[in-house]
Amino acid sequence: MPLPDIRKYLRLETMPTPFCRGCGHGIVMHCILAAIDGSGINFDKTVFVSGIGCAAWIPSPHFAADTLHTTHGRPIAFATGIKLFRPDLDVVVISGDGDLASIGGNHLIHAARRNTNLTVIMADNRVYGMTGGQVAATTPHGRNTATTPQGNPERDFNICRLVISAGADYVARETVAAPKKLTEVINGALQYEGFSFVEAMTICPTQYGRMNNTPTAAEMIEALKNSMVRGNRQDLLTRPLPEGKFYVGRFV
Ligand code: SF4
Repeated sequence: MPLPDIRKYLRLETMPTPFCRGCGHGIVMHCILAAIDGSGINFDKTVFVSGIGCAAWIPSPHFAADTLHTTHGRPIAFATGIKLFRPDLDVVVISGDGDLASIGGNHLIHAARRNTNLTVIMADNRVYGMTGGQVAATTPHGRNTATTPQGNPERDFNICRLVISAGADYVARETVAAPKKLTEVINGALQYEGFSFVEAMTICPTQYGRMNNTPTAAEMIEALKNSMVRGNRQDLLTRPLPEGKFYVGRFV
């Protein structure tokens, strides 16, 4: 099947992008727009909300739509306000793991608990990329970052498990190493009535890869492929994987 032409959704004057060479956020952006292209969603009646961080640049400045670039950790709070005031609009939050799961984790679990009618797409590169590569709540145990040069001593959050526990009814995780699958689960999330969450596992060669012996995009993609295990809700919730592996799939 030919790839959709996503240029109609972009502010082309924003190209080339602010992303580093080899960053996975360009793939996440393409998957989101390809999913929108196949969803029948009215781009002109959709508001994209992001916080602060590299992933927040995916919709803003790139999307030729209404975008709101908000404060760090707060895009879900802003998005909730938009949805309450204008329920006729589709509201999509696109931001990073540092923004949504660390600083804004409280908003995430309560939006899931309330079943707020939002789609949240979290681009997870497992580190605070834009601010210098500091450890995040999603950095796996033992991995090196700028602030944990001898390895992260803490456990990471399993965000899909967290939002399922908070009550979310649509939860999926896919990676930029499987863009077709990622596009499919984003498409499902966009069409879901109620709170939907997609964790898009992506790559950050600049801040995360170079600290963990995978400094190139190709090595990081290969590492993602070797870490993914297809699973369902039961697997995610009850069958722990060895360190370094994670489940992908549509869990709920
Ligand atoms: Fe991408 Fe990492 Fe560069 Fe940010 S720092 S643009 S996440 S490669």
